[in-house]
Amino acid sequence: MKKLIIDRVSKQFSAVQALSDVHLTLEEGKMLAVLGPSGCGKTTLLRAIAGFETPDTGRILINGQTVFDAQTSTKLINTKPEHRKIGYVPQHGVLFPHLTVEKNIAFGLSSADSKRQTKQQKAQRVIEMLELVGMAGLGQRMPHELSGGQQQRIALARALAPSPSLVLLDEPFSALDAGLRIALREEVKATLNAIAATAIIVTHDQEEALSMADLVAVMRQGKCVQVSDPVSLYQYPTDINVAKFVGDAIVLPAVVANGSIHSRFGTLALAGGCATDSKSATIMIRPEQFVVSPPHEQQFGGHVLKTIYYGHNALVHLKTEDQWGAQEIQMRVNGARTFSPGEYLGLKIEGAVMAYE
Ligand code: ADP
Ligand code: MG
Repeated sequence: MKKLIIDRVSKQFSAVQALSDVHLTLEEGKMLAVLGPSGCGKTTLLRAIAGFETPDTGRILINGQTVFDAQTSTKLINTKPEHRKIGYVPQHGVLFPHLTVEKNIAFGLSSADSKRQTKQQKAQRVIEMLELVGMAGLGQRMPHELSGGQQQRIALARALAPSPSLVLLDEPFSALDAGLRIALREEVKATLNAIAATAIIVTHDQEEALSMADLVAVMRQGKCVQVSDPVSLYQYPTDINVAKFVGDAIVLPAVVANGSIHSRFGTLALAGGCATDSKSATIMIRPEQFVVSPPHEQQFGGHVLKTIYYGHNALVHLKTEDQWGAQEIQMRVNGARTFSPGEYLGLKIEGAVMAYE
């Protein structure tokens, strides 16, 4: 079942088109990551879904119910945020500093839909939520007595307490350091999976989007430019800009003919893209698609410029020079393998390659 339908939603702030004809759907129980650079409209989109921002055009349906419709002839439909059954963790989702952890979580339960609950039921729900986010027994703490990661977990517990139909998280880990961010990603995903939540997580971090979500929507200047599962997004980006935004991309000139790519690396299998036959094209190769092979077996290769070592892998910068011109490329190699500057490496390419006009 479609949990969320966003249909041609636009929103303008004076000169800025924050959202432009956004169309998105999300199935029940799935996690969608909205990925894009700062200022592309991610927060505006979440706020429009939650009901804090009124779009200029379009429709929004949650659970099959229209919560927003700008097109109705009689009257604008615009359900109040508190009646949309949404758990929202805002971008700078801070806890109420003067309330205990328990009271912070219970705050969400005092909204309209939870008024029927008894005090005891609410207290029980708070305990359940503390357990869910791995913070049982810490309900009496004040927010300032918690670490950054613990505060984020409580913000999530507060959003989940009323059993929302849809959970919206706006850059929930951006204020945390790298190690904690990665640990918390896994925890939050496990927590949301445990309750089969339908969720949207906003991020400008491609690793976060690829590792957490079932579906990634890439936004650029208010437009949703691609919606794909993480593997397809990385392998078959819709254009060069998306390719570069979701990972390292090497861009090379080539010719596309008869469904194949002709390049300095010989004939390559065409994975997709928008280049048509016989046109000069631009191809995109991921650094890990290059594999070192003995020079006598390979016509193609390059001289090592430098190796940047990262521990689990290294990025080797090479210079190729042939009839296609001179170009620097980067190759990713696993483990502790390093190469000396000036060394010649034969290269082959594994996997299919995308070509663009
Ligand atoms: P993101 O979350 O992707 O960084 P936002 O949705 O916050 O982007 O903003 C998208 C664009 O809309 C930006 O150019 C921003 O400056 C503008 N914007 C957002 N909210 C408002 C507002 N209330 N008034 C005017 N401009 C706004
Ligand atoms: Mg934002």
